[in-house]
Amino acid sequence: MPHRIVVLGAGYAGAFAAGNFARRLHPDDVEITLVNAEPDFVERLRLHQLAAGQDLRRYELAEVFSGTGIRLRLARVTEVDAEHRTVTVVDGKGTDSLPYDTLLYTLGSTVADHGVPGVAEHAFHVAARPAALRLRRRLDELGGDGKVLVVGGNLTAIEAATEIAESRPGLRVTLATRGELGGWLGRKARRHLLAAFDRFGIEVHEHSTVVRVDGTGAVAADGRVFAADATVWAAGFAVHPIAAASGLAVADNGQVLVDRRMRSVSHPDVYAAGDAVHTIGDNGLPLPMSCASAGYTVGQAMASIIGDLTGKEVPTKSLPYVGNHISLGRKDAIIQAVDGTARSKSWALGGRSAAWLKAAILRTAALSVSYPTFGMPTRRHRLSTAADPVTGAVTA
Ligand SMILES: Cc1cc2nc3c(=O)[nH]c(=O)nc-3n(C[C@H](O)[C@H](O)[C@H](O)COP(=O)(O)OP(=O)(O)OC[C@H]3O[C@@H](n4cnc5c(N)ncnc54)[C@H](O)[C@@H]3O)c2cc1C
Repeated sequence: MPHRIVVLGAGYAGAFAAGNFARRLHPDDVEITLVNAEPDFVERLRLHQLAAGQDLRRYELAEVFSGTGIRLRLARVTEVDAEHRTVTVVDGKGTDSLPYDTLLYTLGSTVADHGVPGVAEHAFHVAARPAALRLRRRLDELGGDGKVLVVGGNLTAIEAATEIAESRPGLRVTLATRGELGGWLGRKARRHLLAAFDRFGIEVHEHSTVVRVDGTGAVAADGRVFAADATVWAAGFAVHPIAAASGLAVADNGQVLVDRRMRSVSHPDVYAAGDAVHTIGDNGLPLPMSCASAGYTVGQAMASIIGDLTGKEVPTKSLPYVGNHISLGRKDAIIQAVDGTARSKSWALGGRSAAWLKAAILRTAALSVSYPTFGMPTRRHRLSTAADPVTGAVTA
């Protein structure tokens, strides 16, 4: 019987990994199943563009993986039973149980409401495609007149506010953040950011902690009221509760706890990567949720899974954090480098060249998923029949 590898989530981490397994492991030895709720690869990095009204290229997963031998299962994961090695999925036909021998958990993240009343009922967000499309419909309803409040002062809030302001110049955009807008940026980058907000006419309220959202806007801790026809909640990401409920060891925020090889510390047949994993980067700090982190962690997870199954040595991949790329609409951006302690360096790039670089990064990230086997060696490794050093299980 082939070894069953099940990959949960076909985002930046999962889709890339599934394609690589198909390319590098012998098809007689493994059966690879990729489970995803949506029929296509969603470029999360561009969801603020989708919300603002731009149309994104579609990458149908069935097309991306045709001819790879991967079994694509379009269904929602509702549960992982880490003791019995099964995943419960639900689709239009009902509920099913998928057994696995090795699981790669890459379900990504969603919006974090931080328990603020009214966010779930009244706010919009851009952390998932259905939510971004809902916001887009609301902005369409507003037409050329209305007030949009963006809550948050970090990457997603900045990208959402500037994109909406640029794409829908008739709307009045306000941003409220509990700290400083882009407060972590170096001096040069922050100056560039504030000038861009000025140019777009975005009103900024710093040191405003929003404590309630309703259908007419939001209220801050100091009593300030922000009237809005649409409130966009962009105050951080949270992982799905599935891992915590599965019996896997998780961090306080629900991310899967792994060793340096991205292997679950509680269940060695489970690996995790991307936003869903809690891991310490080369700088000794937790890696932030980002596309780059997804690339590094899944690179390590793939190498570990292939090494563990084939008996080959598992290389230790680097897990760096080098900086941020932040779009400010389509014609401007900031590239901010960070040092070895994750603090912003004085060096930053802004303007059209940064926008060009950001566009190239987005294209490369999407291409690595839509051609997941590109550039990979075609040599397909046979699985080892040796017993797993940790679990004692025979791997093939
Ligand atoms: C608007 C926006 C802009 C961003 N900009 C940047 C940026 O500029 N730079 C950067 O580095 N990062 C950025 N990020 C963060 C980046 O998108 C994430 O860090 C990255 O997507 C993580 O990759 P992942 O593979 O872990 O998860 P994802 O890409 O989220 O993939 C998870 C996959 O799992 C699927 N899934 C989730 N739950 C289930 C379920 N229950 N059942 C089945 N399938 C499920 C999802 O549909 C998705 O396909 C941005 C995010 C957003 C929302």
